[in-house]
Amino acid sequence: MKIKRVAIVGGGTAGWLAANHLGVELARDPEIEITLIESKDIPIIGVGEGTVPQIKATLKKFGIAEVDLLSCCDATFKQGIKFANWMDADKHGHNHFYYHPFSSPFPSGYDVTNYWLNNTADFEFSRLSEIYSVAELNRSPKQKSSPPYVGAVDYAYHFNAVKFADLLAKNAREKFSVRHIVETIEQVKIKSDGNIDGFVYADGRTELFDFFVDCSGFSSLLLGKTLAVPLLDKSAQILTDAALALQEPITETDEIKPYTLATAHSAGWIWDIPLTQRRGIGFVYSSQHMSESEAVASFSSYMGRDLQNANLRKIPMAIGYRESFWLKNCAALGLAQGFVEPLEATSILVTDFAALQLARNFPKLADDIPLVAEYCNKVMRYTWERVIDFVQLHYLISDRRDSSFWRESTENGVVSDILKERLAMWTIAPPKKSDFFSAFDIFGVENYLFVLYGMNYPTRPGVMALPEKNRSQELVRQVQEKSMQMGDALLSHRQWLTELKRALDSR
Ligand SMILES: Cc1cc2nc3c(=O)[nH]c(=O)nc-3n(C[C@H](O)[C@H](O)[C@H](O)COP(=O)(O)OP(=O)(O)OC[C@H]3O[C@@H](n4cnc5c(N)ncnc54)[C@H](O)[C@@H]3O)c2cc1C
Repeated sequence: MKIKRVAIVGGGTAGWLAANHLGVELARDPEIEITLIESKDIPIIGVGEGTVPQIKATLKKFGIAEVDLLSCCDATFKQGIKFANWMDADKHGHNHFYYHPFSSPFPSGYDVTNYWLNNTADFEFSRLSEIYSVAELNRSPKQKSSPPYVGAVDYAYHFNAVKFADLLAKNAREKFSVRHIVETIEQVKIKSDGNIDGFVYADGRTELFDFFVDCSGFSSLLLGKTLAVPLLDKSAQILTDAALALQEPITETDEIKPYTLATAHSAGWIWDIPLTQRRGIGFVYSSQHMSESEAVASFSSYMGRDLQNANLRKIPMAIGYRESFWLKNCAALGLAQGFVEPLEATSILVTDFAALQLARNFPKLADDIPLVAEYCNKVMRYTWERVIDFVQLHYLISDRRDSSFWRESTENGVVSDILKERLAMWTIAPPKKSDFFSAFDIFGVENYLFVLYGMNYPTRPGVMALPEKNRSQELVRQVQEKSMQMGDALLSHRQWLTELKRALDSR
């Protein structure tokens, strides 16, 4: 039987990313109809404002103009993440920070890590990125003349998640003729063989489909609730399980930082994401290590005002992923598939990646499903495990011991075998590209280098020959000089965005 009628449940970022990816791959077949169903009574989660550079390739592929993203979604540029206070304040000072920038630490493609390991006192590892000064000086990654989706340095975006979903929705409807239904699904109908058959909507209508994509958020209506695929609980590895979210207006003259600021506190961390009209700020914490009232007090101290009566939104976070991402004629994406707290903005990245896997491997016939589902499940399990490794790394290798949260996070014995082995190997030599042996390691050597050495991971320095030393020294000098020059030459982030707005207003 040919799969012709595809239903996507959920109109959040995951649902509309799926609609566009499936649209790109399937719209050429006139027999296939894609329908997205969302409920007006169940709002989208509306957080998820930080991305990674992969999003640019995705948006380009969907045919979305960068200028539309910037103007419709209050978007700003993100050149990486600035991690503050993730290390022991007594040893490293109260203002310690490092960057995980969206660039390579290999100047001109040359690996200078061994040189840095021999000279750690001379400069911070983050300075191997030209983004360091550009970000510190609040510069835009783009020149005025930069073409769409290209910058003088690499970048991703911060955006308003609700407006982003609207932009994706418009694109999917207009370019890929995705049918859009606003209805609450009251009942999911199952066939005798365990496949899903269709839905009964709140207005009593029944509609049947051949294939289902569950993007229903944390409720995981189809994969979790209906098909009973369990969540593999990963809360022993990632201890944070709650967030308090706040939106803070900014004025038209406030600087806009071109990075996510991630400030650690005694039981988690705080995200601080600037958009054009406001900041999105979130206090992520472990409810086992901090009560809600302590969280509000600590968040108040970060904001410099009492948040007792502020409009804080509490978001519980289920940490883990579904044992299978695809069962029978249903695959899940986004929060319905899994979530591992917001650090490093992994959620939209994994959703985008999984939606692409689904679209590229989409079964033409119902008989193809078992084969394709098994393959995709293997890919997604590996991907989730490596994402968890990377997020856990940030806690595990810190030298903070000032609270029970940090003591438990750093002494945590629940670590994947792969991360354990890699960390042991990296005590005797730094990470290299070949350590990341799968195409599904979505965080690779460059990401690990910035985090490991931003946090002073103790790797034994190797012996260095004089030519290696001289070449590395020169390349490091060049990258730092280039970083300063770019910092001087590029427009301020605020000015770049203001000039874009002015140009659009005068059209
Ligand atoms: C605190 C927090 C911070 C985050 N920060 C980031 C970040 O910085 N970067 C990042 O990449 N990700 C982040 N994420 C994750 C990000 O928010 C999600 O990946 C993204 O919003 C996708 O959500 P979703 O589409 O899966 O679900 P949702 O947005 O929850 O959408 C669910 C949809 O399902 C529909 N639905 C549910 N039940 C029914 C029903 N019965 N009938 C019809 N429709 C139904 C709803 O109407 C809704 O449209 C964060 C998440 C949290 C919790």
